[in-house]
Amino acid sequence: MRRSGIVAASLLLSSCIPSSGPRPPTREQRPSAEPNAATRQCYADLSNQHFLFRPLVDRTFDNGCSALGAVQLIDIGTPVTNLGAMTCPLADRFGQWVRDSVQSAAKAWLRSRVVKVESFGTYACRPVNGEPGKKLSEHGRSNAVDISGFQLADGRRITILADWNGPDEDVRHFLRAIHDSGCRRFQVVLGPDANAFHRNHLHMDLGNGPYCR
Ligand SMILES: [Zn+2]
Repeated sequence: MRRSGIVAASLLLSSCIPSSGPRPPTREQRPSAEPNAATRQCYADLSNQHFLFRPLVDRTFDNGCSALGAVQLIDIGTPVTNLGAMTCPLADRFGQWVRDSVQSAAKAWLRSRVVKVESFGTYACRPVNGEPGKKLSEHGRSNAVDISGFQLADGRRITILADWNGPDEDVRHFLRAIHDSGCRRFQVVLGPDANAFHRNHLHMDLGNGPYCR
């Protein structure tokens, strides 16, 4: 996939221009043909960052879940596993966090480069912490990402689970540095110090914050 985000965006827009066929019956069932101004501006922001992405048609699901103004990140300079739908602002913050914060912390603390970021994913229609009865997780709005580990150019693999409180002091510093930089870029960041649900990943979202733990 070598298309730029802008090209992909314009293809999506042109493919969504209404034809002379039957009109969609309701507003709810009609996919958003034209992203709103904020989303269009966000597409431009992603392109300005040289992030490759594909705009996603707005979707809503049962239980209040949605992917609105969302994109699929294709290339932010460092491969990331398991990325699905992300709201465009989340994708923009995440791409900058990986490129700037994670890579600079790896250089400073690990004297290496991150060659792959491991994630547990983005969109998931479930309550907070997967506990029935709790409010909808920001994952249900495609507005959160869970990061579980990193592969380095020197062959090391670092995971939140094994290394947050692991034996290597520099690795511990690296993980806390990227946690703290996440707190400056996202609304909510939860890691192993928050609770046992987060012992193996950093949860980062653009919901209601700020909250950093
Ligand atoms: Zn999460």
